[in-house]
Amino acid sequence: MTVPRQAVLEVLSADDRYRSAEEIFFQLHEQYPAVGLTSVYRTLTLLAQMGLVERFDMGDGKARFRLRTGAEEGSSCRLICTNCMKVEPCDQEAVEDQAASGSMDDVTRSLETEYGFQLRRRVVEYYGLCVDCRRRNEEKRSQEEN
Ligand SMILES: [Zn+2]
Repeated sequence: MTVPRQAVLEVLSADDRYRSAEEIFFQLHEQYPAVGLTSVYRTLTLLAQMGLVERFDMGDGKARFRLRTGAEEGSSCRLICTNCMKVEPCDQEAVEDQAASGSMDDVTRSLETEYGFQLRRRVVEYYGLCVDCRRRNEEKRSQEEN
């Protein structure tokens, strides 16, 4: 294994947060000063092509990466914390049951009638704050109030 690859994998395997190339670079820099940002980019692209790393665009123009764990494969939906970038798989059906709305059935139907498209799999992503970040926010707020 090459040094940049080992360094990048070390950072990514710490937890399942998404990280930008810059974040990964800063995290590995102390231990691997010889690994530059360009080679972090190159390594991430390669690891994504190999299917070891998941690349994800949050819509802010910055690609983020994390190790593919396999835990999310069977899950049809994900909860993405926009604060710490932690990702949790969730049970889409359970979520929809809780919401008590049949709106996704309408989507399935309209995809079929409008486009002749048979829906087989959908991926839903919920963006928000995870339970840890919410707690931290509330603690910060109550400290500011006191
Ligand atoms: Zn969070």
